[in-house]
Amino acid sequence: MVSKIPHKILLEESEMPTQWYNVVPDLPEPPPPPLHPGTHEPAGPDDFAPLFPMSLIEQEMSAERYIDIPGEVLDVYRLWRPSPLFRARRLEQLLDTPARIYYKYEGVSPAGSHKPNTAVPQAYYNHEAGITKLTTETGAGQWGSALAFATAQYGMECEVWQVAASYRQKPYRRAMMEVWGATVHPSPSELTEFGRALLAEDPDHPGSLGIAISEAVAMCVGDPNTRYALGSVLNHVLMHQTIIGEEALLQLAKVDEVPDLLVGCTGGGSNFGGLAFPFMREKMAGKMNPTIRCVEPAACPTLTKGEYRYDFGDSAGMTPLMKMHTLGHDFIPEPIHAGGLRYHGMSPLVSHVYELGMVEAISIPQRECFAGALQFARTEGIIPAPEPTHAIAAAIREALACKESGEEKVILTALCGHGHLDLAAYDKYLSGEMVDYDLPDSVIAEAMESVPVIA
Ligand SMILES: *Cc1c(COP(=O)(O)O)cnc(C)c1O
Repeated sequence: MVSKIPHKILLEESEMPTQWYNVVPDLPEPPPPPLHPGTHEPAGPDDFAPLFPMSLIEQEMSAERYIDIPGEVLDVYRLWRPSPLFRARRLEQLLDTPARIYYKYEGVSPAGSHKPNTAVPQAYYNHEAGITKLTTETGAGQWGSALAFATAQYGMECEVWQVAASYRQKPYRRAMMEVWGATVHPSPSELTEFGRALLAEDPDHPGSLGIAISEAVAMCVGDPNTRYALGSVLNHVLMHQTIIGEEALLQLAKVDEVPDLLVGCTGGGSNFGGLAFPFMREKMAGKMNPTIRCVEPAACPTLTKGEYRYDFGDSAGMTPLMKMHTLGHDFIPEPIHAGGLRYHGMSPLVSHVYELGMVEAISIPQRECFAGALQFARTEGIIPAPEPTHAIAAAIREALACKESGEEKVILTALCGHGHLDLAAYDKYLSGEMVDYDLPDSVIAEAMESVPVIA
């Protein structure tokens, strides 16, 4: 007999949402403003002008609920969007759970993750403003490759500072960026004062995201034709990602499903916010009541163990101060394989809704994540990027709890990238070499000493 239960829920191109959703005006209270790094006064649009074009700064501070996606951005989105929503029936069968697990698959983008959803509009708005070059940092290489692809769409230059450890370990991500025309430097580099100082201390410095951000920012200020692009954390980035949740809402409606639980991995919070915020809007409107859960690595537990404080986004202390959950801008996490989750801070918006009690957070060690990823790959077929293995592991925990309780929960997650360039991590897991890191409170306390005290 032919099974009638849908496995893949698709949207037509004509059904693709044409607006991004800004959650800020719907929140019970607004998030605290960013502060100028020198004066500690609320930062205004001009403070961001050396870094971003005014159109993106306006989105960053916008009070509009919906922002139209420009036609030129929709044209590029259509290369891979709308993305599919899958029901993980084969995983459900393996787990023998009454839960129904859905995943929104963002690995179908050219770069293999959700990151092009914001890279494309960021490149577009800079191009519109006459900017010819973007600088950025990248950790695992996902963001750098997304921005390299996006700048290529608008004939712009792209210069990327890649965390040195990952530059050495992941030559194929670098090659991808170069295929799309970007120039890639290991960070710390000899090109900035900050980089030179760090290399003088340690010629083999492994680098960190915070350091690479400092370098990319330093190389952008001062050049009137160059701006900087950030792949996560900021309000406008999370807003661009809401195309994920808006599509997922339409797709679940097609099969008459309403989620009981949303789980997403959180590095800087962009794929999570992108999936969750449109559902949060429906929840605030009383149309559904899902639990919304962030999942972070046990080795970089920003929400669950970090403090809610004003801190810098980068290591050199050049960016505006943001009120966010932070482990301290000097914190360098252990080299877990989910490179995209190794950031000291968390999006101010995700931190804010966490403080308001609108979302919850848990942390999971990496071996449990990879064990879940193998169960997923061996049933659903797709090999997940190391970052969303955290969301998968959390979905599996919940599905197994449903097996105990008999509850038929509907679980929704974002499979925000594939792991085809992360097979070395799977190799480590399969050979038994992967280790879990415990993060002692003393290490956190030490890193927190770098966080500025705001009067
Ligand atoms: C960058 C990245 C992340 C982490 O960033 P968020 O802003 O938290 O989404 C997670 N997954 C993948 C696949 C990434 O490339």
